[in-house]
Amino acid sequence: RRTRSGPILNFKAVLLGEGCVGKTSLVLRYMEDKFNSQHLSTLQASFVTKKITLPDERRAQLNIWDTAGQERFHALGPIYYRGSDGALLVYDITDQDSFQKVKSWVRELKQMLGSDITLIIVGNKTDLEDQRAIDYESAVQYARTVGAQYVETSAKENEGVTELFELLTQLMLDQR
Ligand code: GDP
Ligand code: MG
Repeated sequence: RRTRSGPILNFKAVLLGEGCVGKTSLVLRYMEDKFNSQHLSTLQASFVTKKITLPDERRAQLNIWDTAGQERFHALGPIYYRGSDGALLVYDITDQDSFQKVKSWVRELKQMLGSDITLIIVGNKTDLEDQRAIDYESAVQYARTVGAQYVETSAKENEGVTELFELLTQLMLDQR
């Protein structure tokens, strides 16, 4: 049984994905259990930190980097994601283009950081199931081919969000 009194390991995780897919909403839901129907890119700080205790009682400090909306200007580069232990690659399940954008992020991260980084692909907005453009199975299959996990969430309905951040933490701890 692990002791809880050891030093807390620190992890950097970045959010990547097209504008408007819900990156900031996922962070806001997880951190503050809030949802806002406005676009949040200019309202929120781009760095948040939280101490997490997993269900198995392992602890970690999660440092999450969210964009301040620079993705709209194609201005996110290595300075943003360098040194990351994990990345959440978010798309909107109703938006095919946002899924393609995830694929290009996966290529860039693997090229720049190698395969040591924990990757989770996140299909957000599952509350819009009737407008779904990417089916669950093809997303899972794609994730498998690139060594990533696949998770679906709704920041709006608070579905899968806690599980997402706990899975991220668990995978990064396992990787250390
Ligand atoms: P970001 O640009 O990726 O950070 O996206 P935001 O978090 O700013 O969200 C963009 C828009 O999508 C906002 O209008 C949000 O309210 C909306 N949104 C975010 N998550 C969800 C969700 O799970 N379901 C629905 N229906 N809308 C969402
Ligand atoms: Mg944002």
